[in-house]
Amino acid sequence: MRNLIDKLEREHILEKDEFIALLTALSREGHDGETGTYLAAKALAVREKYFGRDVYLRGLIEFTNYCKNDCLYCGIRRGNPKAERYRLSAREILDRCRAGYELDFRTFVLQGGEDPYFNDERMVEIISGMRQEFPDCAITLSVGEKSRETYEKYYQAGADRFLLRHETAAPDHYGLLHPADMSLANRQECLFTLKDIGFQVGAGFMVGSPFQTLENIAEDLLFIGRLKPQMVGIGPFIPHPETPLGSYERGSADLTVSILGILRLMLPKVLLPATTALGTIDPESREKALGYGANVMMPNLSPLNVRQKYDIYVGKIHLDEEAAEGVARLKSRLKELGYETPLSRGDFPV
Ligand code: SF4
Repeated sequence: MRNLIDKLEREHILEKDEFIALLTALSREGHDGETGTYLAAKALAVREKYFGRDVYLRGLIEFTNYCKNDCLYCGIRRGNPKAERYRLSAREILDRCRAGYELDFRTFVLQGGEDPYFNDERMVEIISGMRQEFPDCAITLSVGEKSRETYEKYYQAGADRFLLRHETAAPDHYGLLHPADMSLANRQECLFTLKDIGFQVGAGFMVGSPFQTLENIAEDLLFIGRLKPQMVGIGPFIPHPETPLGSYERGSADLTVSILGILRLMLPKVLLPATTALGTIDPESREKALGYGANVMMPNLSPLNVRQKYDIYVGKIHLDEEAAEGVARLKSRLKELGYETPLSRGDFPV
């Protein structure tokens, strides 16, 4: 497998059957087998070349858990009557930004379901308010599929980045995870539109989602190779019992960590989070992820009384290291591991 990893480092892409061979070896041997160890060493060297030992912290504000969609794996899908719904007001969002700024966050991530209440007018008001009060901070949105016109309004109001996981690049697989009224083609088109407008974009997918094959993951990697996003968010699938896919097995933290290494070689300057889902199923995996090229963490800045309601999967960590109040502890743990957490927006290097 070393020859494939060398090729990936050199050319930043592999053929589909080569990706499948590499993923097969990593699944069989585990992330700390011979293939994974070689991959980690390469990924770490690339990350250090572009980012040194820096890890960027982003303040995550989950501002609405209403969603008009019904993705079959998601705990806040509209079809889950047990989800306790909430929305934050513009004032509450700004309050959380102020608290985050005091904690040295210089990126705020506004994440929510596709909630029609937050129409263009309300979103532009929120984004403009953040931009005005925090001119030195990056504003990242994660609010789903919209029209080009809407994305342009967000961008003009001052948003810089947009996260939209493509979830799976295989149409058949997409159809097994989503209702018929959702379309993979539209989701992918949104990503290209966002990039064209000027956003730094983040794609991503779940590892080990129901019905997923290694061939599907290879297709995800090929799509990411075509899109060339500035950020990629991947995490293991975690079932939520109040969803149609609630009885399926969770994904592998081990394989997720290895795929981070592949992504670091594909996109050397990518901003790559060690995700909350990874930390939820195995707290040590987030530290391992840093050793495979991850360079971002997203502590939760949402108000304490709503954190448990943004329940996209079960057992999500949010009350300790992952919470903003635990940021000092997180920083000191990172320092022990030899990482720095600079006071910086942590943009994609140009
Ligand atoms: S995954 Fe996103 S779009 Fe789908 S139901 Fe959940 S919040 Fe809504």
